[in-house]
Order: sequence, then structure tokens, then C-alpha cells
Amino acid sequence: MTMEGSRALEGAQAPFYLPQGDECDVFTAAHANGLPLLLKGPTGCGKTRFVAHMASRLNRPLYTVACHDDLSAADLIGRYLLKGGETVWVDGPLTRAVRAGAICYLDEVVEARKDVTVVLHPLTDDRRILPIDRTGEELEAAPGFMLVASYNPGYQNIMKTLKPSTRQRFLSIEFDFPNAEQETQVVAAESGLPAERVAPLVRLAGKLRGLRGQDLEEGVSTRLLVYCATLICQGMPVERAILAAMIEPLTDDEDVKRGLLDLVTAVIG
Ligand code: ADP
Repeated sequence: MTMEGSRALEGAQAPFYLPQGDECDVFTAAHANGLPLLLKGPTGCGKTRFVAHMASRLNRPLYTVACHDDLSAADLIGRYLLKGGETVWVDGPLTRAVRAGAICYLDEVVEARKDVTVVLHPLTDDRRILPIDRTGEELEAAPGFMLVASYNPGYQNIMKTLKPSTRQRFLSIEFDFPNAEQETQVVAAESGLPAERVAPLVRLAGKLRGLRGQDLEEGVSTRLLVYCATLICQGMPVERAILAAMIEPLTDDEDVKRGLLDLVTAVIG
């Protein structure tokens, strides 16, 4: 499990995030009212950065858990571990967040095992409690605690969608890739490549995203665009950087790859 507990420092600058709309207001209102929030959208479009930015702005610690198909409720809540011959209880990231009044971000929550959603239910209604069966504790979430989850509705896996009974417990915001102007701004800021050199890459990304659902399962993410621009900024030839950051990550099929390279030539020259 990748897990990170980062402290928002008083007065520290929030990580750069360019809003796509009014999502910062919705997050702030959800936090103020102790309501859980679901972020829907494709991978690499800024959801994690948004949460990091908001946690810092609201001055709350942030616990991020990257969910995967082996992640169980115990991984989130905690377990007894043997330490120096003694059995001691060790809180998981969700329990730590509940105790500290922190923001807990469950990235790609649908990937996690079924028992995880059961644990989330009492935390997502007005009880805001976390029952810990193993210790007999029933923790009330400390003020400031907020549950945020993300999922990617684009994956064509019927087994991996959120059940309506779970979805209906969360406020939801839909994310997509930023529009061309915003994405150019984001990629330029993140990579250091001047905006006029980023703009053709963003145009290319738009074309590649148009192939989603046809030749490609997923379009180019903003994350990959940032990688591409970073390589170019450091002196890599444009075509090489595009191949490494915008073509190879999308497909293993040689025919599709050739088709994409033709598209690169048409858009970039
Ligand atoms: P997700 O969580 O949706 O998979 P991330 O938040 O990790 O995606 O975004 C990937 C990268 O894209 C970030 O590290 C950041 O460099 C960049 N990014 C995307 N959208 C924005 C935005 N609106 N503001 C700032 N950076 C962004």
C-alpha cells in the first residue's frame, strides 16, 4: 500500500492547483459541513493535486491511500502487530485521520476489497463514527475529519463500479482534463516549458483523447503531458519525448502506434 501522511504546515504555500470551475468552493463547503466527497474522473487529470491543495488551504493533515484489489478494511483501520514479543495495536491511515480530524483520501476506491465500503458507511452518514471491531472502540470522527474518495468511471469493468448505496453517501464532483487554455497553463507551470511550446502538445493530446474508446482505452493524461514537456524542457528532441510520454504509455499495439505517430506528424509537423 502506498500511503502518505503529510502535515499541512501553518502558513506553508498550498501545492499549485489551477481550478477548472467551482470545485474549491464545493470542497470547502463539504469540509465545513463534515460531508464526504467523491471525485469522479479519468486518471491523471488533477484529482490528487486538488485534494493536496485543499488540505493545505484548509490547514488539515492529509492521509492518502492508493487503493488496490488487495486492500482490506484492516489495512485502513489497523491491526495487532507483534513488537518486541508484545502484541500492540497499530492504527491504519483511516483511523489516524479520524482521530486527528484529518482529510483521508482514498484514491481509486473501487479497486479496494468489498469489506472496505462497509467500514466507510458509518463514517459517511451523520453518525461519523468508525467502529473498530478488533479493539471494541467506536471512534467519533474529530472535528475537521473529511473522507474524500476518487474513482474513474471510464474503466469498462462492470465489477468495478461503485454500488448506488455507496455513491449516494457522497457529494460528487466530476473532473475531466482541463480545457486547452487551462491545460497549457498547468503544463507550462509544472514543467517550465514556455506556453507557446506547450500549446502544440496540448493540441496533440486533444486529438489523442478523441481516440478514446476506439483505438485507445484511455487518452493522454495531464500527468503525461507534464512528463513530456519536462523532457523537452530539459533538451530532449520533441518527437522522442512525445514517443516516450504520449505514445508508448498508451498502447502496445504496433499498428495503433504507427497510426498515432502519423497523427503526431500531422499535428506537430
Ligand atoms: P489524478 O489524481 O487525477 O490521477 P493528479 O492529481 O496526480 O491526477 O494529476 C497529475 C498531474 O497533473 C499533477 O501532478 C499535476 O502536475 C498536473 N495537474 C493536473 N491538473 C492540474 C491542475 N488543475 N492544477 C495543477 N496541476 C495539475
